[in-house]
Amino acid sequence: MIIEPDIKLDFKDVLIRPKRSTLTTRKEVDLNRKFSFVNAKLDIPYQGHKLISEYSGIPIMASNMDGVGTLEVADALIPHGMFTCLTKIYSGKELIEYFLSNNNKGGRSDYVAMSIGITEEDRKKFNDVYEQVGEKLRYVCIDVANGYTERFCNFISDFRNRYSNIVIIAGNVCTADQTQELILKGADIVKCGIGPGSVCTTRVKTGVGYPQLSTIIECSDAAHGLGGHIISDGGCTVAGDIAKAFGGGADFVMLGGMMAGHDEGGGKISGNKVQFYGMSSETANDKHFGGLRNYRAAEGKTVEVPYRGKITDTVQDILGGLRSACTYSGARRLKDLCKCTTFIRTTVQENKIYS
Ligand code: 5GP
Repeated sequence: MIIEPDIKLDFKDVLIRPKRSTLTTRKEVDLNRKFSFVNAKLDIPYQGHKLISEYSGIPIMASNMDGVGTLEVADALIPHGMFTCLTKIYSGKELIEYFLSNNNKGGRSDYVAMSIGITEEDRKKFNDVYEQVGEKLRYVCIDVANGYTERFCNFISDFRNRYSNIVIIAGNVCTADQTQELILKGADIVKCGIGPGSVCTTRVKTGVGYPQLSTIIECSDAAHGLGGHIISDGGCTVAGDIAKAFGGGADFVMLGGMMAGHDEGGGKISGNKVQFYGMSSETANDKHFGGLRNYRAAEGKTVEVPYRGKITDTVQDILGGLRSACTYSGARRLKDLCKCTTFIRTTVQENKIYS
């Protein structure tokens, strides 16, 4: 047994220190980011080498959860330049229709990922969609609860070999070593976060997890060293947490609970509340798999969130908070927020040494 003595931090353990700034209004802040991906290669020869795929937008993502990663949420976020990982529940046919339909929602290929697990059935479903929609499908989110298994790593490397031009989002992990491993296996963006989710019960059911801000700081450092990127996935409950995630080095921030409860999510509304549940909760298992498979404990719960109307209003609120955080920190662009950030620790962890 080993104990790591370093202090690990969550969003609640820090605040961002304000700094002198030359910005006059928060309107001046540029939240747009551009990324080129380390492993996905477009099949276009350009001046003797192949073009690298690029992303440009506001790097906030809707999570691939029921009530959040819906086609309607995706279409509502595209005009903001924001990204959606669709839930896995859509059939191949629905996805083909969505990616092929031409109803002036340009940008689906730039801002929407199909999500899959790692079964043979998942691979086949991806292949069926890809064969039909071609380059309109650029992103895949290969998502498992535990991104540490050999089987998962093998799936990623095999997927990379088969689809050289697809941008692979892979997770979840929460440590630097496994972030590097996934990038070396062919992932472009690693989804980081084990246990911080608002409807996740992994920490209480298994004792496993990692404080999310430290996950971000350590995994982003590891990923950036290899030219890869990370998503901070889970644990943001207010816009200030999103600012802290970017300040800690996240390239993208993924939201579940903060994007739940809107018209576009299609959840069950009762009164002024909407049902929201974890993707491995009993509710999700009942809905999609006809009951909990007996070898697994439910590591997700079902809650009610306030009904919040149109998602665009929430988005404005989030972006306003983020712009303001950049202004306070002296960051003219979101890109600069990390290097402008000084975190102040606000909670005390006992560190007594007994002799
Ligand atoms: P939130 O933004 O709500 O705090 O976190 C969203 C994230 O929680 C999702 O993107 C996903 O990684 C994670 N998550 C969703 N459902 C479950 C679940 O049932 N169990 C666990 N352990 N994590 C979940």
